[in-house]
Amino acid sequence: MPTQYIPCVKNKAIEENMNSNIPKLLAVAISAVIFAPCAVFAETAPVIDTTAGIKSAQWGKNVTITFGTDTFALFSDGIPNHPRPTRYLLPKPGVVVPELAADLFVGDDPTMPQNYAFTLPLHPRKKAAATPTGLGPIGILVSGAALFNPYEADDHTIALQHNFTFDGVSFVDACNGHATPAGFIPVGTYHYHGVPHCITDPIDKPREHSKIIGVALDGFPIYGPHGKDGLNPAPLDECNGHTEQTGEFAQGIYHYHLTEGSPYSIRCLMGEVPASNIQHPPVIKN
Ligand SMILES: [Zn+2]
Ligand SMILES: [Zn+2]
Repeated sequence: MPTQYIPCVKNKAIEENMNSNIPKLLAVAISAVIFAPCAVFAETAPVIDTTAGIKSAQWGKNVTITFGTDTFALFSDGIPNHPRPTRYLLPKPGVVVPELAADLFVGDDPTMPQNYAFTLPLHPRKKAAATPTGLGPIGILVSGAALFNPYEADDHTIALQHNFTFDGVSFVDACNGHATPAGFIPVGTYHYHGVPHCITDPIDKPREHSKIIGVALDGFPIYGPHGKDGLNPAPLDECNGHTEQTGEFAQGIYHYHLTEGSPYSIRCLMGEVPASNIQHPPVIKN
């Protein structure tokens, strides 16, 4: 199912299935509440086509993309195509989020191949309200690895404010990523929690907006830390996004930024997320 909404009618959207199963009066009452914000959306949102922008991103060889008319399919092995440490600080068995040095041990990089297959919209549409991101992939970056939201597995500890480094070995690496360790399902999922400097530093230019570095599961593009003229992107909404011109979208587009400061990553998605892309977060194995 490509979208959960049919286009706005007279500035009001009608949700699929809504009228089929519930009494008409109730539907009208609900629609008055649910669809009021759509009037704003319908007047301000042009139809975007991200095909050229997605094509222009510097995808790794481990990423395969096939373009359709309304969607594109993205496949990846999930292993970042950039160097990473051979050893990481890993949570000891039973530790969800390390609080103390004693909660961690030095172990081999747990990264393992994944089987990512996403179908993503080429005409992303903003919804009236944001959808909070869960744990697990919320986007795929050009390296082929996943972007996670800012939080560790307890769903509120901000990973980049809770890093540990001993003897040159880190919990989160210099590219602001690490993999889900043994004890989690799926295991070995390498993911970023913030600006992936090993991706952005080689391609971003001074005094320019960051380059596209990936796509979120709602189809809107993801960028590094620099906004217009290379300045801090501001203001950003609660999802760390805003609408402005970028190098790839001269007409302007809604897009997300990964930022040097909190929240570092994307806390919510502003666009419609195809049902097939709803992620099952890593869970602790019993
Ligand atoms: Zn993490
Ligand atoms: Zn921007």
